[in-house]
Formats: sequence, structure tokens, C-alpha cells
Amino acid sequence: MASTVDLARELHERGAILSGHFRLSSGRHSATFVQKFRILEDPQLVEVVAREIADAFRHEYPTVVVSAAVGGIVLGFEVARHLGTKAIFVEKEDGRAVLRRGFTLTQNDRALVVEDVITTGGSVREVLDVVRSHRASLVGIGAIVRRAPVDFGIPTVALLDLPIESFDEASCPQCARSEAIADPGSRRT
Ligand SMILES: [Zn+2]
Repeated sequence: MASTVDLARELHERGAILSGHFRLSSGRHSATFVQKFRILEDPQLVEVVAREIADAFRHEYPTVVVSAAVGGIVLGFEVARHLGTKAIFVEKEDGRAVLRRGFTLTQNDRALVVEDVITTGGSVREVLDVVRSHRASLVGIGAIVRRAPVDFGIPTVALLDLPIESFDEASCPQCARSEAIADPGSRRT
């Protein structure tokens, strides 16, 4: 996969990037939807994108890869394999993002945060907050697809920028044409 053009084509062919009329997890409507598990279900593809993310941050010597359950677990594990680090993940407990399962981060850690698809940046911010709460350093954020130019204040690398155009129901042009809407996914599943 030599370029982001190739990656975009690959994701369209696999059905990871869908065209239609979709209700996003935010409730807003969009003509495109990223079905990230069409990427994450294929170890060969994950191996390739994870290596690109790992190579982008290898020079920062991360000591741990931190991601968010559920999709991030697959990607984070593979990025960590390329970097020779551990892979841990954040998950919700009583509605709050935390480390469970005995996962640890210390102030000596240099954390690389990995996300499959950055949309609003909300789940990335939750992971950043967890890393900071353990006083670990942040070396950056790596993602496969970025749907908005979110600024997290630290180096962020996305393999594919796919800016989202979304509408609330009242101003959605597809709703105005009475096009049937699909509800393809829910947040963090
Ligand atoms: Zn609509």
C-alpha cells in the first residue's frame, strides 16, 4: 500500500467506506460512513496499516501503545507488535474511561495513542485524559482514518484524511429528498 490513494481505494473496495444516507453515532446525517470493522477484520490489512502508524512514531521510542475498546484493541495490539511494546486499552466503567484488568502506566512511560477512525475526537480525548492522569508522557496519536481536522495539541498522524460532511436532520439534503436512512453503527461498537 504505497499511498493514501491506494488506501482509499482499498477501503472503498472492501466496503469500509460506504456511500449512502447514514445516521452517525452523533445523530447527525452523512452521505458517507466508515465501517471500520471491514478493516479490522482482516489481519493482513491491519498488519500493513499498523506498520505505517508504527513507523511514523518509532523515532519517538514509545514504551506502550494505548487505545480504546473495542476497535482500538485490534489496531493497538498490532502497532505495539511492530514497535516491540505492550498494548493496553481504555474501557468504560460506570460511564468513565479507565484502565482496568491490571493495566498500568507510569510517569516513565511514553505512550502512543492509537485510534482506528477519528471522527469527533471524543474517544481519543478520553484516552489522552487517562494517560495524563497516570502522569505518563504522550508521544502522539496515530489513526487509520481522520474525518475531521481535530487538533489534540500533540503530533497526530492519520493514514487517510476523509473529511466528513454531516448535517442535522432539519438541514440534511437527503432527508429533503425523502431518501431512506440507514443506521449502520453505534458508538464504540
Ligand atoms: Zn438525512
